[in-house]
Amino acid sequence: MANVKKWVYSFNSNKTEGNQGMKDLLGGKGANLAEMSSLGLSVPPGFTVTTQACLDFVSNANSLNDEIKKQVLDALSLVEKESGKKFGDSNNPLLFSVRSGARVSMPGMMDTVLNLGLNDESVLGLGKLTGNPRFAWDSYRRFIQMYANVVMGFNVALLESTLEDLKEAREVEEDTQLTAQDLQDLVSVYKTIILEETGIGFPTDPMDQLWRAIAAVFSSWNNPRAIKYREINEISHEWGTAVNVQSMVFGNMGEDCATGVCFTRDPSTGEKKFFGEFLINAQGEDVVAGIRTPQPINDLSKNESNKTLTTLEQAMPKVFGELVEVYTRLEEHYKDMQDIEFTIEKDKLFILQTRNGKRTAAAGIKIAVDLVEEGILTKKEALLKMNPEDLNQLLHPRLDPCVAKNIIATGLPASPGAGSGQIAFSSEKAHTMNENGEKVLLVRQETSPEDIAGMVASQGILTARGGMTSHAAVVARGMGKPCVAGCSQLAISYANSTLTVNGKVYREGDWITIDGATGEVIEGKVPTISATISEDFSTFMKWADEVRKLDIRTNADNPQDSKTAISFGAQGIGLCRTEHMFFEPERILAVREMIYADNVASRKKALDKLLPFQREDFIGIFNEMNGLPVNIRLLDPPLHEFLPHTAQDKLQLADYLGIDVDLVEDRCEKLHEFNPMLGHRGCRLGVTFPEIYRMQTRAIIEAALECSKNGIKVLPEIMIPLISLSGELVILKDECLDEIKKVFEEKQSEIKYKLGTMIELPRAAITAGEIAPHADFFSFGTNDLTQTTYGLSRDDAGKFLPEYVGKGLMPLDPFVSIDRDGVGFLVKHACIEGKKTNPNIHLGICGEHGGEPRSIQFCHDIGLDYVSCSPFRVPIARLAAAQAALK
Ligand code: PEP
Ligand code: MG
Repeated sequence: MANVKKWVYSFNSNKTEGNQGMKDLLGGKGANLAEMSSLGLSVPPGFTVTTQACLDFVSNANSLNDEIKKQVLDALSLVEKESGKKFGDSNNPLLFSVRSGARVSMPGMMDTVLNLGLNDESVLGLGKLTGNPRFAWDSYRRFIQMYANVVMGFNVALLESTLEDLKEAREVEEDTQLTAQDLQDLVSVYKTIILEETGIGFPTDPMDQLWRAIAAVFSSWNNPRAIKYREINEISHEWGTAVNVQSMVFGNMGEDCATGVCFTRDPSTGEKKFFGEFLINAQGEDVVAGIRTPQPINDLSKNESNKTLTTLEQAMPKVFGELVEVYTRLEEHYKDMQDIEFTIEKDKLFILQTRNGKRTAAAGIKIAVDLVEEGILTKKEALLKMNPEDLNQLLHPRLDPCVAKNIIATGLPASPGAGSGQIAFSSEKAHTMNENGEKVLLVRQETSPEDIAGMVASQGILTARGGMTSHAAVVARGMGKPCVAGCSQLAISYANSTLTVNGKVYREGDWITIDGATGEVIEGKVPTISATISEDFSTFMKWADEVRKLDIRTNADNPQDSKTAISFGAQGIGLCRTEHMFFEPERILAVREMIYADNVASRKKALDKLLPFQREDFIGIFNEMNGLPVNIRLLDPPLHEFLPHTAQDKLQLADYLGIDVDLVEDRCEKLHEFNPMLGHRGCRLGVTFPEIYRMQTRAIIEAALECSKNGIKVLPEIMIPLISLSGELVILKDECLDEIKKVFEEKQSEIKYKLGTMIELPRAAITAGEIAPHADFFSFGTNDLTQTTYGLSRDDAGKFLPEYVGKGLMPLDPFVSIDRDGVGFLVKHACIEGKKTNPNIHLGICGEHGGEPRSIQFCHDIGLDYVSCSPFRVPIARLAAAQAALK
């Protein structure tokens, strides 16, 4: 028989076909269920329909092929055997949960159906079997609501309002106060509404329910929320999701039942404390929905809002003990902090899910360092676990403790960092305000996946409901944004767009501040100060430094940025862009005078005015970078960037130069370029106006000599930008060397320096072998190299590149992550050819790619000596370089 493709993998106590390593095929959840099941934990039996089946389904116009259906039926009968129940049986019914599970977790993005298999007959069986008809009808009612929403695409607001009406009529507050008869009546009303609204009856055949649920989960891979989430998180649209079909266990069968979520360590701080929330007599969504305040599982999980509630440890000590055993085992097995979902059915503990818990970056570092110290992880494993981009979070601001603050309320400290913004009550509004350049703080009762765009647009998120595991808390933590959740003192009215706290009303547009580390909500705008780095962070980064091969430099053009970069571990400056220094008010007139000069003598006169400024700039930087190399690029941008634009600027310049304003206009016209990025810029300025490069070289060397005289160790590197011909470098090098010689003679003193060039045009990369003998170093300017390799303007590409990425023409924006095949090919070629003619040539990168982990991997692979990136990305680059070396 020909090999039949396997579409379905079972997990039960007799047969588990998958394992942890099969995430691509089984999705994260499916692989975990298989792994847990094979560990012998009490996992309700079930099966996983693979991500491949999802792709097959999508490519078959959203239909399941016969072989998939056959394998589902086979797997289903195994579950029936193990559970002793029968799917669709009216006496002893087997019920299923149907959940999506992609390769990486996508919180809230995909949909879940519980209690699948219930119909008018089996509901009676379930009632009899459990001796709890109320529970059976409640399960049925929940099932219809979820199924109608997720599978039938029905707007459940209608069903919800019916439930609210019924509670009002019965004069009760909680769902749990409704009787079995109430719920039975509700079910029949639900079914009537669905029939009336859709023209289709609610499916009563369990098998039919199952096929349609599987199809709905597969289809939901392409729902707009899921697509949006993937775009934000750079997740491929080609992965597909798996479906997990698992027998139901019930946390809502009575007071000996419960459901909960726990973390093996604190997801906010990383502290080693078992931490979680649960609800007695409830189903999973009740914990995260924020409708009832969850109870703490133990004393360590107590906070302001739940401190008076009974813990799981008190309520069910035996089960709590089992949970502790399970979590210790899971943490050792997965070598990471776990986020575990559990259900207790009649005092029996079931583990529904475990995964590596989402955490703040600070917690990530602490956990990694602790796990190494506990002997659970090696340093190498610890380094590889951390996503370099997550370090961004550590560099976040916090509130200035010296500034008085008017705290108006306190909620849960759901995600650290602090942020101020103008109140927006909807995701749409937040998005629009952000587009208009305003800083926004999103204020919601609670958030849902629909709010993702608004959360992205906001400085922080404040919610009135929900616990530490609510949607707002989990998602904000992942995004590294401050979040205060479950702040029950807030009265939010969406209808009036008001937030009322202690009688005071705040409106849309009013400023508030939140501190996600303390849970404080503060009136107005509070200044923030930058993050300080923990001892664990230093330990962790030291491990990274021990293994990385690449040096990490920074792009900085002033002493302050240089200082920041050093505090983050920079080992030198890889790019000092001198043009930024020219824009200060007292200098720009001299710069314009230089541009307007129509002969060498008057140009020199203007340059003489700039020389002392430049010298001071370099002295400041050399002092900060004592002992570290400083690579200074000679003037690069097109001259038009310095031209006066406004009428007032033109008048001021005319006045300064003592010429008529018409003449100023006239020169502006003449200097106008059609494609300034490809025009008179870079070394072309040096070739036509060598005095400019001479002045800058002089300023660098004079500054270096002066610092050196004062005991500072100076390692200057002079860099010529944008060459395309070796001849350009040759003549400019001669100019620079001549100027350096003059300075040495004048000062009767010398200093070591390097002189090299940027490789940022394809011709330079291709002919690198000719260029290298004249250069001490190459620094790859991959911003311009990407622009010119693609013929794609870096200033205009943003308008259409996202569409290219969306259509799969490019995996990622090539200005963010290096295009290995094109731009990368040129870089690699230049390194190889450059080394052939100058084996000592020093190689680095200073384009934005120098701070991007995937590009850093590439730089490591081709053997560059260093990468250079903005100061705040230095720690990210250090870790990425370590990971590159370890991979
Ligand atoms: C580059 O082109 O990559 C570069 C670093 O220079 P700039 O961005 O200043 O053009
Ligand atoms: Mg450039």
